[in-house]
Amino acid sequence: MAEKSKGQKLQEKLSYKKTNYFEVASEQERKEIFAYAEGYKAFLDAAKTEREACAVAVEAAKAKGFTEYSFGDALKAGDKKYFVNRGKSVVIFRVGSKNPEEDGFRVIASHIDAPRIDIKQNPLYEDSGMCFLKTHYYGGIKKYQWTAIPLALHGAVVRKDGSKIELSIGEKPSDPVFYIDDLLPHLGADQMAAKAGKIIEGEQLNVVVGGLPYADGEVSDKIKLTVLDYLGKKYGMCEEDFLSAELSAVPAYPARDVGFDRALIGAYGHDDRVCAYPAMTALLDGATEHTVLAMLVDKEEIGSEGTTGMQSKVYEDLMEEIAIALGANFRKVRAASKCLSSDVTAAYDPNFAGVYEKMNSAMLSCGTAMCKFTGARGKSGSSDASAEFVGEVRKMFEESGVVWQTAELGKVDIGGGGTVAKFLANLNIDTVDLGVPVISMHAPWELISKADLYSNYKAFLAFMK
Ligand code: MN
Ligand code: MN
Repeated sequence: MAEKSKGQKLQEKLSYKKTNYFEVASEQERKEIFAYAEGYKAFLDAAKTEREACAVAVEAAKAKGFTEYSFGDALKAGDKKYFVNRGKSVVIFRVGSKNPEEDGFRVIASHIDAPRIDIKQNPLYEDSGMCFLKTHYYGGIKKYQWTAIPLALHGAVVRKDGSKIELSIGEKPSDPVFYIDDLLPHLGADQMAAKAGKIIEGEQLNVVVGGLPYADGEVSDKIKLTVLDYLGKKYGMCEEDFLSAELSAVPAYPARDVGFDRALIGAYGHDDRVCAYPAMTALLDGATEHTVLAMLVDKEEIGSEGTTGMQSKVYEDLMEEIAIALGANFRKVRAASKCLSSDVTAAYDPNFAGVYEKMNSAMLSCGTAMCKFTGARGKSGSSDASAEFVGEVRKMFEESGVVWQTAELGKVDIGGGGTVAKFLANLNIDTVDLGVPVISMHAPWELISKADLYSNYKAFLAFMK
């Protein structure tokens, strides 16, 4: 090889360039990247709702010797615990040996809810040979993307007597699936001329759940009766039980490798399980002297509200309880704590280049992406991490050989978005966003890179170390 010129050497020394993780990974590390993705895909298929993700996380924690924690329990260094909040969010944590007042807690916060089609409380009706469920979509979706695809029904029903049943129908190959219909193109001239937001309207997102009339000439709504008969026999539920049910239609597709080289993964709900899974596995795998918490929370997609969303007092209460159990002043603990708010970001998409600013967008396979700030317009609604904290995290990654990049959601004036970061930052905890770049975010099937998934895991291990 020819000797590098003076300018080339100077450029190498002084310039910043993103790195494709696949390109720089050793053969061994490439193997690790692909092996790690297998566990992730299994997690995705087993955890399509926050309830399921919570249950899977609890099982994974138990298998690694973690035990359930309740407020008021004694804690000591070395304890491995999990705390379940209403079956819909879970915090897995390790108690470290360091003084929490000086070292604080290390928090990784991600969410396990994902955009989907929720079933209404009085949903069942029949019309023109079909039986339907009325729905109300959850999270920011392009409604037209959710038609004409196989859907599975997941959720919980609390029956009249107070007993609860949990459902998952449509995931096994032998299961039936459900369906939201769309208009044939032959009659679609007006529809296709409409604005995309109006192509399918909220009240048209009705899920087909049956087509077989009940064999009794004396009754009306025969197809509905067949469905009710099935639900009665199979689940012991009646129509009124929908009133106290939480059912969701989600894409029935399993996670699959994408591409000849299998570098990418297509799946429902990468946002934000592609961060929750690494958070969970890093916490379960990584021994540490710090007290670390992996928070897998609910309701991010609709504003982090309620008892299970990040704004709930329960997470602050938990951290305070841990501080008290360790004999530490919670205000001092919070002030010394650090948080990675771990949520996905938009990956630069060359097919929609116009909405991105290329220099500051996350590039697929260039590693987990740090967003110093989120928000919209003039950074509105963002907690905007300090240069000092970003510098600290950057150094951590550098020392652990994490391939990572920075990101911004899109062009300044185009749009924006938020994460749970600000709720943790508001507690006086240094917080920055870090997560995997996603193509087609919030679509029924999203795309990520296996390299970015593994980079995210490695980043969390570095943060915990
Ligand atoms: Mn998210
Ligand atoms: Mn989202």
